[in-house]
Amino acid sequence: LMEGAEGRALHFYDADRDRALTRRLRLEEDLRGALAAGQLAVHYQPLVRVRDCQPVGVEALLRWQHPEHGDISPVEFIPIAEEAGFIGDIGAWVLRTACTQAMAWLGEGIALEEVAVNVSGRQLADPDFTAMLSRILAETGLPPARLVLELTESVLVHDDEAAVAQLHGLKALGLRLALDDFGTGFSSMVSLTRLPLDVIKVDRSFVQAAPTDRAAAAVVEAILALAGRLGMDTVAEGVEDAEHFDILGRFGCTTAQGFMFQRPQSAADVVQHLRGTTARPPRVVIVDD
Ligand code: C2E
Ligand code: MG
Ligand code: MG
Ligand code: MG
Repeated sequence: LMEGAEGRALHFYDADRDRALTRRLRLEEDLRGALAAGQLAVHYQPLVRVRDCQPVGVEALLRWQHPEHGDISPVEFIPIAEEAGFIGDIGAWVLRTACTQAMAWLGEGIALEEVAVNVSGRQLADPDFTAMLSRILAETGLPPARLVLELTESVLVHDDEAAVAQLHGLKALGLRLALDDFGTGFSSMVSLTRLPLDVIKVDRSFVQAAPTDRAAAAVVEAILALAGRLGMDTVAEGVEDAEHFDILGRFGCTTAQGFMFQRPQSAADVVQHLRGTTARPPRVVIVDD
């Protein structure tokens, strides 16, 4: 290593990078067997209709309970699964688990309009993806109209003909497509009109900034107006308090998702919130006297 002040900085930098790399390799190794070891679970977060605060669906969110490190965020392990080539198996398991669970809830009489499942670009790149999904729908019996696939803008950067054709092929199964985290990626407004999308999810960074940041509020308003004009449903992510929620109502957002209603929870815990009771927590009324 180099000496002197710069050398020291480099040294510390390298040590950090070493640690990060070691953790990454370790997690990759552990993730290889995580599914078989029963360490993965699908949790569910309610999607709430803005008009009356009723839960109308859920988003399935993958969880990894590591035997030593505890809960690892999907923000950390999904990219590892993608790069290591595990995302196909893991993603198929998430789809099957979520469809099976949604079917069970429907059988219990819960009025679940949709279950949304995140799908990464690597999964879509598999030429067998559409056939695999079709099999899962047939085997679980979930009506395809109840399934929403959440795609991120990175999938759509290459909105070449093949990608567009694949999305139409998925839609032909009868399911719906959502664009996740809208506003954070590189897709243009034009791609919104070219792709067969049904739902736009406004990224939580805009939702949460909107009450105090006029530019963010303008972005939220513009996205919701555009989606409305294109006939798409809209979901606002990261709704944590009444201020976030009120802005959505004002700008005509159809659905909200966030800690204000429920955090993601296990299937057993979330079910009570799906039974037609109001999803909105009681508001504290402060009486001024
Ligand atoms: P996402 O699809 O945008 O999911 C929403 C994320 O926002 C979730 O984080 C959720 O817990 C979090 N969230 C919900 N409400 C609030 C709120 O009010 N405030 C804040 N601060 N956060 C909120 P989570 O579960 O950590 O997942 C992170 C990301 O990991 C997901 O973002 C998605 O991109 C990815 N992911 C999760 N499960 C899967 C999966 O099964 N497959 C794939 N490919 N990606 C997944
Ligand atoms: Mg999502
Ligand atoms: Mg999202
Ligand atoms: Mg997000």
